[in-house]
Amino acid sequence: MTSSLLTEDMQSCPAESADSSTVSRRRLRVCHECDLLLALPPLKTGEKAVCPRCNHTLVHRQANAAERSLALAIATLIMLGLSLSFPFLGFSLQGFGNGIELTETVSSLVGFHQSLVAMIVLLTVLVLPLLYLTALCWLCVGIIRGQPLPKSPLIARTLNYVTPWMMADVFVIGTLVSMIKIVGMAEVELGLSFWTVCGYALLLLFTTQSVDRDWLWQALDSKPMAPAGGLLGQAAALQGLTGCNTCGLVNQITAGGRCERCDEPLHPYQGVNTQTTLALLGAAILMYIPANLYPIMITTSLGSTEPATILGGVLLFFQSGDWPIALVILIASIFVPVGKMLSLLWLCFVVQRQQQQPMGRLTRNRLYRITEFIGRWSMVDVFVVAIMVALIHSGDLISIAPGPAALAFTSVVILTMLSAMMFDPRSIWQANPSSTDSITHTPIKLPHSSSKEHSQ
Ligand SMILES: [Zn+2]
Ligand SMILES: [Zn+2]
Repeated sequence: MTSSLLTEDMQSCPAESADSSTVSRRRLRVCHECDLLLALPPLKTGEKAVCPRCNHTLVHRQANAAERSLALAIATLIMLGLSLSFPFLGFSLQGFGNGIELTETVSSLVGFHQSLVAMIVLLTVLVLPLLYLTALCWLCVGIIRGQPLPKSPLIARTLNYVTPWMMADVFVIGTLVSMIKIVGMAEVELGLSFWTVCGYALLLLFTTQSVDRDWLWQALDSKPMAPAGGLLGQAAALQGLTGCNTCGLVNQITAGGRCERCDEPLHPYQGVNTQTTLALLGAAILMYIPANLYPIMITTSLGSTEPATILGGVLLFFQSGDWPIALVILIASIFVPVGKMLSLLWLCFVVQRQQQQPMGRLTRNRLYRITEFIGRWSMVDVFVVAIMVALIHSGDLISIAPGPAALAFTSVVILTMLSAMMFDPRSIWQANPSSTDSITHTPIKLPHSSSKEHSQ
């Protein structure tokens, strides 16, 4: 049964209709993935609310959220500072050796005229996390003081853009893969910075997970409310409403509209549009050809030069019996990008056909989520190149240089990530106009709910 949250609350509290209406409108949210208009139930700390239709996590309340995020952000910044202050890795072979600091993984690439790849490594591992952590400290200090610091809304908006591009955790996996590669040819020494980088990556992960964006925006500015008269359990777009991707406020759709609270441009659902996704995907597929044809690393050992392509490197490890490492590179460099490109192509195809597909919408939505999640892990290979190039250079004895495929493969990772971001998951749920009636049966969600797929 279709129900209006405002009507329900007023019926249950007739004497407090005006207050109930205010409370209800504050609780309204639009699911970012399926565009359903929902109301948050009262949540205790530690509880989360998920969309009953697509299982997307809407909010996850944390105990002492500001203090917790601030403490984690400061601890992560300290780990980052330590990581930049001590030796990172070293290797020795036949009396010759080399030790590097973390920043040399970037500067060595610049030395080989791979400035673009160097810039991406620098941004994803150091600069963007540093920006994110500083911004988070700024916001949390303001919230704890009870008076947001200047420019807090602008700073909170940037968090949204920075988060998907922070890859310290992927860099740690890249470091481990590099170490296993080097162990086969030389002795590896772990510097103090290696351990602090592991701590930094782990703490960064905890920090991002501690941030409940919905709570953060409520704490910064709780005044704006959703427009009155919204019908729960119905698509927001059908009611002229849309949820802000940045702060979560439900806004009325207007031409060229911006969010009433955070001033970000609104992106109301306007039907299936896969052109940008497909254009970026096409560019990624094109770049994947040179990424595989050209060598990604060129090893010079005792005067002989040996270029290695991605697939060639995998085969070499399989032949030498290092199958765990071969498997990691095979999954990160071949299965993940190819799987991601195929699944995005397939999703674009099914949403354009606008008819019921054998695979349910929830399954398609899960596929989209997996595609978006795994994309960044392909950067493992790029980080391996950065570390190997920095670490292994002992003149004619053994040296490694980046090949042309390094830039091509980095472009594939960036383009596929952008392509997944441009895909609008709402089109999975609304591709078939005749199916919108199924939305009306969606119940109001409860904390920790894990409902079945209602709309199949
Ligand atoms: Zn949903
Ligand atoms: Zn907003």
